[in-house]
Amino acid sequence: MFEGQNHYVIIGNGVAGNEAAKYLREHDSDSRITIITAGRLLFYNRYELPRIFHEDCDWRDFLVNPPEYYEKNRIIVRRNSLVNTVDSARKTLTLDHKEEISYDALLVASGGRNYLPEHLTDSAHLFDNFQTFRAAQKVRDTLPKGGKVVMLGGDMIGLDLARNLVVNNYQVTVLASEQTFWPHVLQNSERTKFLEALEHMGIEVIDGLAVERVEEGGRGMSARKIKLGDGREIFADIVMSFYGLTPSVEFMLGSGVDIERGLLVNTHLQTTDKSIWAAGDVCQIWSSEENRYRFYYGWKNVKMMGEIAAKNMTGEDITIKTIPDENIFLNKKNEIDSPYWEYE
Ligand SMILES: Cc1cc2nc3c(=O)[nH]c(=O)nc-3n(C[C@H](O)[C@H](O)[C@H](O)COP(=O)(O)OP(=O)(O)OC[C@H]3O[C@@H](n4cnc5c(N)ncnc54)[C@H](O)[C@@H]3O)c2cc1C
Repeated sequence: MFEGQNHYVIIGNGVAGNEAAKYLREHDSDSRITIITAGRLLFYNRYELPRIFHEDCDWRDFLVNPPEYYEKNRIIVRRNSLVNTVDSARKTLTLDHKEEISYDALLVASGGRNYLPEHLTDSAHLFDNFQTFRAAQKVRDTLPKGGKVVMLGGDMIGLDLARNLVVNNYQVTVLASEQTFWPHVLQNSERTKFLEALEHMGIEVIDGLAVERVEEGGRGMSARKIKLGDGREIFADIVMSFYGLTPSVEFMLGSGVDIERGLLVNTHLQTTDKSIWAAGDVCQIWSSEENRYRFYYGWKNVKMMGEIAAKNMTGEDITIKTIPDENIFLNKKNEIDSPYWEYE
């Protein structure tokens, strides 16, 4: 596809980026491969982060590949490196500290982050998150024994954390919203049944009330105070927002590729620029069967996207097929289960 030694650059050190790097190396043994990530660690399994509550573990326990893997496969990982801009005409990207990096082909696998509703952005500093090992460690260290977490929204990422917190004797209140089971879409009657199942799992649910404000708790009280639409105030040691994911695309604005919510890609995972591909939570994929753009989440889908993008970047011609929506269900113990909680 290219002459000489190709430089493949991957933005993002998650499932999609690492899966792509693996296939790029397999399909183009002479190439240069560079993964760029804002994070400090090599690829670790974020789905396993809730383990931090019930095991005495450190960051090494979460690494998917040992450091030697990258050396052996000649994959350079640039950590602590935030991409600020991409210039598709010059085939370069610029890091926060102004360094410029050239690519022959670029894969954007920058994932997404928790969405915070507009009216709560002033109090963003009062929210914790669970997006990185560091953030998870902070939550664990901040929570007192038996302490209370209030989750706004829910979503399947938040609910996974909630069930792990309850098992470890913490208290969790979910302020339910339309996104409580996101990315699953539920009809009203089903939604009620699954909210009841959450209570059965030991998670308190408050449904139908807007969150007006989040404030500091004040002296001698819990660290956070949440004001609800009916005037009620509830207290928490930690507040988190789980209203689904917003794709991380800011650095692609002005790059020349088309963006809606995510990076728009065709069924080959190629953006509107022929040297730029995207995979994982960041991309919005054209579905020819459904005649619309859509997102696909979850470990196995994201992995598959990394593989398809890498193979197409090395000259193959693979089309992603429409993936049916995943189903949420109740298991034999009448507890919620979901394919979004599964990973290998
Ligand atoms: C704690 C946690 C638990 C989760 N649990 C589930 C679950 O149970 N089920 C589920 O379906 N999904 C879950 N998810 C969602 C999950 O993130 C995705 O489905 C999947 O892991 C996404 O992989 P990805 O490779 O697309 O992106 P990510 O894994 O999000 O990786 C994105 C990478 O891009 C890097 N990056 C972003 N912007 C920049 C930039 N400007 N410059 C440099 N680097 C950048 C980040 O540092 C990161 O390395 C969870 C997410 C989290 C945080």
